[in-house]
Amino acid sequence: MTGGVGGYPDARGRFGAFGGRYVPETLMGALKRLESEAREALADASFLARLDAELDRWVGRPSPLTPAPRLSAAWGVEVLLKREDLNHTGAHKINNALGQALLAQKMGAKRIVAETGAGQHGVASAAACARLGMGCRVYMGAVDVERQAPNVARMKLFGAEVVPVTAGDATLRAAIDEAMRDWVSDPLGTFYLLGSAVGPHPYPWLVRELQSVIGREARQQALATTGRLPDVVVACVGGGSNAIGAFAPFVEDDAVALLGVEAGGSGPGLGQHAATIVHGRPGVLHGTYSQLLQDEHGQIHETHSVSAGLDYPGVGPEHAHLAATGRATYTAATDTEALDALEEVARMEGILVALETAHAFAGARVWAAANPGKTVLICVSGRGDKDLGILQSVGRAG
Ligand SMILES: *Cc1c(COP(=O)(O)O)cnc(C)c1O
Repeated sequence: MTGGVGGYPDARGRFGAFGGRYVPETLMGALKRLESEAREALADASFLARLDAELDRWVGRPSPLTPAPRLSAAWGVEVLLKREDLNHTGAHKINNALGQALLAQKMGAKRIVAETGAGQHGVASAAACARLGMGCRVYMGAVDVERQAPNVARMKLFGAEVVPVTAGDATLRAAIDEAMRDWVSDPLGTFYLLGSAVGPHPYPWLVRELQSVIGREARQQALATTGRLPDVVVACVGGGSNAIGAFAPFVEDDAVALLGVEAGGSGPGLGQHAATIVHGRPGVLHGTYSQLLQDEHGQIHETHSVSAGLDYPGVGPEHAHLAATGRATYTAATDTEALDALEEVARMEGILVALETAHAFAGARVWAAANPGKTVLICVSGRGDKDLGILQSVGRAG
């Protein structure tokens, strides 16, 4: 399993200036052990065969690459859709959750702890733990437990324990802190299953490797379908896991542009969006040095997005590096642009995409207008059934 930018990260877990391990000494040993065990597992043929078999028979991989003829005609480009929405549990998150859960089992961990914001990563983790017969505790901000009741119910049905976190902002940021604290208290018996390409080394690398199955399949499928590589690969960016998984196998293909689309929220003002690379500045959050939404005193900004899964004030360090080197480009799509794109894809192609994913379509549409006749590959990170309540509340679902 390889991908990524010319061998990055380096031995210190750095992607250029970004990444690294900014953690208390108590966590250092656990992170180093995780790194060496993960390196060994991802180079071990029998581990990879087990992972591939589960991806194939339980997750439902490979996911198809679906041509989108009506959208193509409307946009004046050839649109290809990488269908992570068809995975078991409805999004790309299961690729990572399953891979890390298998690693946890191989390392002899008795239980898994995970954080979740909107609940999608909690559901994927709980499902993977049920499948492998492992205990699972999910930390979730108390505010999010209220807002995301159906996902709490799903996690419980899979046998997970959901722990509401009332500290701090009582959302994702506080849940990550709490999960790390739990892990420190028993680093040998517990495995921390982190949900995006963020956090201290080795997580951004490990999550990229596990999500790179998206881009590896898409690359082969594009070649088989069109005889050539796409001109651009587009993905939405929250923490950045579906995007880095889609991008990594194309990074060495100089002719393929990479476009990440962040949550532009209700506007560019402070607290109105979650567009970390577009509007952020470098700093440390959750153990990694990356772009952040913060004020001049280093205080983290409130974020806003219509899509809960993009609502994080940081971003994976490899994206910060890809942006700094110019290898990938990052734009923002507003709530309204994303909702418009969601409706367009639903009407034109009969696919209800997640609100997060809709941002990728909104960004791809702008790129297409400037690049007629090109081939645009969009990562459909997840399905939109979970968003029906929000769609109704904003008058977009009848
Ligand atoms: C969680 C989620 C995202 C955002 O997470 P990344 O780590 O940036 O991929 C995007 N799309 C869907 C459907 C999600 O559930």
